[in-house]
Amino acid sequence: MKNRDRYPIEWTDVIRPDILKRDNYKCTKCNVVHRSSGYYASKNSFVTCDEFMLDWCKRNNIKVVKLFLQIAHLDNDPSNNDYSNLKAMCPRCHIINDMAFSKLKRMCVPRISTDLKSL
Ligand SMILES: [Zn+2]
Repeated sequence: MKNRDRYPIEWTDVIRPDILKRDNYKCTKCNVVHRSSGYYASKNSFVTCDEFMLDWCKRNNIKVVKLFLQIAHLDNDPSNNDYSNLKAMCPRCHIINDMAFSKLKRMCVPRISTDLKSL
């Protein structure tokens, strides 16, 4: 969680659990389940493991991690905690969501600053 001070006090105890429950503890983009164990097959691809695969990972020295879902702000504004603006996402989908927004912001900012100079 970046910019922790911009999150409301009830974020951890109320909002985050509410959104995880509403979204059935699954990433709303790729459906990966909260707290599932697995490994990253590549930087961007998480493979969920059942007990047999976990055993296989152990035998092959593949690092298994537990995936924790995050709550994404669709408009990228951490102060907008309207439930319609929040979605459960895995770390990978969260980054993709935020990257799309930063790209858009980069495209808009130069135009805004140019407009301000002309005022
Ligand atoms: Zn995802």
